Amino acid sequence: MAEVTESLVRSALSTVKTPEGVSLAASQALTGVVVTNGKIYLSINVDAQQAKLWEPTRQAAENAVKALEGVTSALVALTAEHKASVAPANPPPSRAAEIPGVKSVIAVASGKGGVGKSTLSMNLSLALSALGLKVGLLDVDIYGPSLPRLAGLHQKPETENDRLMIPPEKFGLQLMSIGFLVEEDTPMIWRGPMVMTAITQMLREVKWGPLDVLVVDMPPGTGDAQLTMAQQVNLAGAVVVSTPQDMALIDARRGVAMFEKVNVPILGVVENMAYFVCPKCGERSDIFGHGGAHAEADKLGVPFLGEIPLHMKIRELSDAGTPVMVAAPESEQAAAYLRVAEGVKAALEKAAGIARPAPRIVMEQ
Ligand code: ADP
Repeated sequence: MAEVTESLVRSALSTVKTPEGVSLAASQALTGVVVTNGKIYLSINVDAQQAKLWEPTRQAAENAVKALEGVTSALVALTAEHKASVAPANPPPSRAAEIPGVKSVIAVASGKGGVGKSTLSMNLSLALSALGLKVGLLDVDIYGPSLPRLAGLHQKPETENDRLMIPPEKFGLQLMSIGFLVEEDTPMIWRGPMVMTAITQMLREVKWGPLDVLVVDMPPGTGDAQLTMAQQVNLAGAVVVSTPQDMALIDARRGVAMFEKVNVPILGVVENMAYFVCPKCGERSDIFGHGGAHAEADKLGVPFLGEIPLHMKIRELSDAGTPVMVAAPESEQAAAYLRVAEGVKAALEKAAGIARPAPRIVMEQ
């Protein structure tokens, strides 16, 4: 079978006219073309108010692409996201908008997956709540949303007036996850291009609040999704999670650098799986050579928020949908999360007193 290439797709799109009268292939509205093994995904970025006008173009693009030999499926989506290219020198105020009902938004990020970012997001949210704040947790880890599992919640959120989603509440937290909206078996290829649209929707179309803090569990890495977040939301700060291994620290460094580039203050670095306490004898072992993240934070000139031990209980309780902060609030492990939360709360209070300039985003190509 003939292999479909991006240039074949683009030439098919040159026959499709946009409402502006130019070919879709030449239009700036065509923001994404993904071609993988005969599966095609296109995104056409339009003003939300003009979606109806563009529907025939969308349909025509889908038909044109499907007619190509070797195409097994084609999905053409109208998206209404902000452009993530070069921001104007004076971005309009809506660019880094406040989220209605939310006082401060903080991002929990890691340079790579599997370092315990989601576990920290959940327990940090619970710990901030234990410190008296009203807290929401938003899971935008599009590649592996874990909030449904961590909270033992799997229902689709209810909507108000068919538009605003109502975040379900559990453990005193308001919760929202991409996992509530996208089926778990949605193929990866669709997820990538959906990232920005989905994130925008989850930030703007959820009836939060009133909340003191919205904790956002970010997708791992330092790509478009993180930049979109930083562009669209006035982030009060970011918490970067790392394990003590060298490789993870390098990734964490990239995470810190990325937030600094977009003018988001780093509230601090957390070292997860910092040391191991034997559940039988209580002896502590520094399996991965602990302390690296603390030293790295000092080197980068960002605060160190504390360390979380590697402990069986943290994993078991997480998997059971009852986070350690809920199931064992008096435990050593919960105390470790509480210390981190105290640091975050203090950093937030400090940051609130310092006005910062609106972020100016320049993407390096
Ligand atoms: P990420 O969000 O970075 O991909 P997760 O939070 O999903 O990582 O954690 C990955 C795995 O590690 C999960 O099984 C989780 O229960 C476990 N885990 C996270 N932190 C700890 C810890 N401090 N001690 C033991 N297990 C942990």
